[in-house]
Amino acid sequence: SPIPDYLTDALRSVAADTSGATADYIPELAQADPDRLAAALCTVDGHVYSAGDADVEFSIQSISKPFVYALALADRGFDEVLSKVWVEPSGDSFNQISLEPESGRPRNPMINAGALVATSLSGPPGAGADQRFERIVDGLSAFAGRRLEVDEAVYESELHHAYRNRALANMLRAHDIIAEDPLVAVAGYTRQCSLLVTTDDLAVMAATLANRGVNPVTGRPVVSAPVVRQVLSVMSTCGMYDGAGDWMTRVGVPAKSGVSGGLIGALPGQAGIATFSPRLDRHGNSVRGVDLFQRFTADMGMHLMDVP
Ligand code: GLN
Repeated sequence: SPIPDYLTDALRSVAADTSGATADYIPELAQADPDRLAAALCTVDGHVYSAGDADVEFSIQSISKPFVYALALADRGFDEVLSKVWVEPSGDSFNQISLEPESGRPRNPMINAGALVATSLSGPPGAGADQRFERIVDGLSAFAGRRLEVDEAVYESELHHAYRNRALANMLRAHDIIAEDPLVAVAGYTRQCSLLVTTDDLAVMAATLANRGVNPVTGRPVVSAPVVRQVLSVMSTCGMYDGAGDWMTRVGVPAKSGVSGGLIGALPGQAGIATFSPRLDRHGNSVRGVDLFQRFTADMGMHLMDVP
């Protein structure tokens, strides 16, 4: 296959760009090796191609959000989930205290406010924190096709500095959007963000979304087609935060970024793509990751609004 050579060339073309900076509000992430660089592609028939540091583990961070949202929709149904977290782009950055004025409902599940709610809605009604986290690990592992584990150092590091997320969780509790102790909600969400993945894992996770919710490597169904449609739609409009409109016009695929430097895109019916490079732009999106995806769109004609 020409794909690995193509990916290697693509990495080479962005390698010299050292602009941007690692996230500094999570001390453990600030210490990450900023020069790591990887790209991976998983087709819907289950072939994984990669280049660079594609087997290096890093914490998934906000790329967990679409997958946990998918689990919440699967576990609680659309009506309950939509009543507590809406689907409108906020145009705000990922950690804005951005809630609808009257109801206190977060505007979408890709910003932290909404992600805290999705975490609280995963697992069966009445599930305790441990049972819910088991569901999240099982679910994200099914998307990845291997058992994922928590990076305890990243978890502790973020939890001790999670002042904004605690503020958000307190607001959500005050509005009765979440029913639990706000600190428990923040701990669960932070733990989910600390799950370790590789760029290869992320490509398989994205490919599961591109493949109607069936993991193309393991063959295992993870979530239903209606859930996938909902998740990909929200990724398209909200996945890149206040950079979402620019992303959708330039790159044109549903995507999600995370502050550890990962980035995924899903091409429905075709493939999942992932990149990893820790230096971030002002929106908190990976600088070289965004460049790579722009290149992929130009070279592979993957913009969803282009007529094939
Ligand atoms: N855990 C991070 C936070 O809540 C995730 C943010 C991100 O990846 N954009 O701040």
